[in-house]
Parts: sequence; structure tokens; C-alpha cells
Amino acid sequence: MGYMLNEEQQSIVQMAHDFCEKEIKPYAADWDREGNFPLETVKKAMEIGYHCLEIPEEYGGSGIDYVTVAAVMEEFAKYDLGFATTLMGTTLSLKPVLMHGTPEQKKMYADVIVGGGLGAFALTEADAGSDAGATRTTAVKDGDDYVINGTKCFITNSTYADIFVVFASTDREKGVKGISAFIVERNREGFSVDKHEDKMGLRSSDTASLVFENVRVPADHLLGKEGEGFKYAMQTLDLARPFVGASAVGVAQRAVDEAGAYALQRKCFGKPIAKLQAIAFKLADMEIGTETARQMIIHTLQLAEAHQPYSREAAIAKCYAGDVAFKNAGEAVQILGGYGYSREYPVEKLLRDSKILQIYEGTNEVQRVVISGQVLNRYK
Ligand SMILES: Cc1cc2nc3c(=O)[nH]c(=O)nc-3n(C[C@H](O)[C@H](O)[C@H](O)COP(=O)(O)OP(=O)(O)OC[C@H]3O[C@@H](n4cnc5c(N)ncnc54)[C@H](O)[C@@H]3O)c2cc1C
Repeated sequence: MGYMLNEEQQSIVQMAHDFCEKEIKPYAADWDREGNFPLETVKKAMEIGYHCLEIPEEYGGSGIDYVTVAAVMEEFAKYDLGFATTLMGTTLSLKPVLMHGTPEQKKMYADVIVGGGLGAFALTEADAGSDAGATRTTAVKDGDDYVINGTKCFITNSTYADIFVVFASTDREKGVKGISAFIVERNREGFSVDKHEDKMGLRSSDTASLVFENVRVPADHLLGKEGEGFKYAMQTLDLARPFVGASAVGVAQRAVDEAGAYALQRKCFGKPIAKLQAIAFKLADMEIGTETARQMIIHTLQLAEAHQPYSREAAIAKCYAGDVAFKNAGEAVQILGGYGYSREYPVEKLLRDSKILQIYEGTNEVQRVVISGQVLNRYK
């Protein structure tokens, strides 16, 4: 089981593994404790191109296939979900540009990212999270420009991103059908970063609010067509979900690895706790969940690469993998007992980090809305 990768794909994943062993493993606990964004390490990862693996070769990227990218993201998340989130935050912002941008927009965005910049995807607002259609940020056409006003919150990479995809209403009366997507560079006048979130987990990832005060962007920064932005956002999230799922598999696998190794060496009543069926079966269930989620993600990405519909599968993959990661992290804490609850061991961090996997990129309730909608459609 696992991934069926050819030699070249395996070597890409092995390189990511080696990077994580050297550059993340020794420091992840400190980043977590101090809530530090590891800028220097992120820069090293960007030099190798881990933040833009999917950029096609014609735009200067590596053009790596989706399944290999998922295997790489699983590897990063195994070591630190926050770090993986920083990388995925950039590819999340890139996806709508690659899907709907003109060749010039793709080149402009890819040049910034391939050149060593981070990107950010700015959809969420204080009163528009799951209900993203309630966006209040506006973009008003003024001559050859659009003028953007509003505030976004909970945006990954806010402080460090060089370029953003921002969703704003160009026609409030049209609701969801009035939302449009824009490329906004960081150095635009009137743009600023506001409140930084002090989070329970994912502490090495940067999450903050963005403020737009009369930010002018040229009209050629509009992505696709006016009023299509919400559709682009949903398509982006569909494609991003399997990758978030892959990062959830990384956390779930790490929980199995930590708990399995501990169970073999921890003795109770004169024998390793691994010999207790109650513990061994927990490990079996953790493994079942992890592998099932991984296979679901591979299947979803194969559908996406084959240009088959995959929205239902993406929602299932993200939802299932996120639930498995959170459950596995909790079970790992349980298997380590009191030591699991202590910050000296890495599993309590897994539990805090994994909670986000049920919240961002569409909460798991929202995934169930998507999935149940598709089920019910079948019987209409
Ligand atoms: C660390 C972090 C990073 C993030 N990064 C980004 C980013 O880069 N870009 C970005 O745009 N956003 C980002 N977000 C925002 C994230 O996507 C939202 O927090 C998420 O979509 C939920 O929105 P909300 O917080 O407003 O919760 P709400 O939408 O207010 O939901 C509250 C509760 O109600 C439930 N609920 C809401 N609607 C329904 C429904 N129809 N059916 C059933 N239950 C429902 C939810 O599932 C949830 O349990 C990030 C958030 C965090 C915490």
C-alpha cells in the first residue's frame, strides 16, 4: 500500500524527507513553544521549490504530478503541520491563477513565487467564513483600476506573502454572483497586515488579518470574469482539499509512528504495553484510518489529473483524513499516558495541530454538507 511511485517520484519524496530530518525535526518543538515563524528555514525550502511544486515547467516551476506533491506534503506535515501549511498556503493562492489567469497573469504570479516569494489566499472575513458568499470587502471599478476596501481575517502567510489572491464583491446586490477575484501585490498603497492570531496549534504558521484601504489595482489584475470569483474560490478549495488531506495523513502517520515505538518500549505489569490487546488494537485502528485516508487522497488526485469530476471525493478525502488525524493524535496521547500529556513528548503537539484539519479549507461540517448534497442529488 502507500504510494506507488516510480524511481524519480520516490527520490523527490526522499529529498523532502531528508530536508525535514535536517531542517525541521530538530527545531519544530521550539517553533511551537515560541510561536515562531521559521523564516530562514522557509527560505531554504523555497530555494528548493517546495512552495511551488505544481507550477508548470513553462512558468519556471517543477510541474510535479499531484500524487507526488501529496506525498511530499505528507512528509512535511509528519514533521510539522505548521510548516506544511505555509507551503500549502502559497499553492492555495496559486491554484485560481493557474486555473483562470491569462498567460500574462500566470507568468506574473509564477515569477514572484518561483523567484522565492510566498503567496496567500484571502477569502475569509470576520462574518464570512463558512458563509464565504457574505463577503463584505468591495472592489469598485474606477477608470482603469479597481479600488479594494475591506478586511480579511485568518489568512495564512499574511505577514510574509509577496502576492495575494483576494476575493471582493464587485456587485453587493448580486450576493455570491457579485464576488470577483483579484491579484494584489504586497507593496500596493493602502494595504496592511493587522491582528496576528495567537493559536492553540499550528504555531509555526503565520495567520493574520489583512486590511485594504483604497487599494488600487489595475483592471488587468482581475482574475477571469467579474462575478465568477466565488466559483473560482470553490474550485480552488476542491483541488486544495486532497492536499490538506495529505497533510492530515502526515499527522495521522506520525501519531502511529510515535505511539507504536513507545508501545514497544514502555513496560507495564512486566511486559511492553504493545502486548496488551487494548493498545495493539488502537494501533491497528490508527493504521486502518491512516492508510484508508491516504488511498482516498491518491484516488481523488488521480481523478483530478484525469480531468474527471472529483468534488465529492475531495470533500470525503479532506473530511475523513482530518477526522483520522485528530483521532489518531488523541489515541497517541492516550497510548503514551501521562507522558503523552507532557510537552516533553511530541504527541500533545500533534493533538493541538491536528484540530485545524477539521476547521480550515472548509470545516468538516461543510464537507458533510457538500457530500450529503451530492448523495441527495442522486435520488432527486
Ligand atoms: C489557522 C487558520 C488558517 C486559515 N487560513 C486561511 C487562509 O489562508 N485563507 C482563508 O481565506 N481562510 C483561512 N482560514 C479561515 C478558515 O477557512 C475558516 O476559519 C473556516 O472556513 C471556518 O469559518 P469560521 O471560522 O468563520 O467559522 P464559521 O463559519 O462561523 O463556523 C462556525 C461553526 O458553524 C459550523 N457551520 C457553519 N456553517 C454551517 C453549515 N452550513 N452547516 C453545518 N455547520 C455549519 C462550522 O462548521 C463551525 O463548526 C484559516 C483559519 C485558521 C484557523
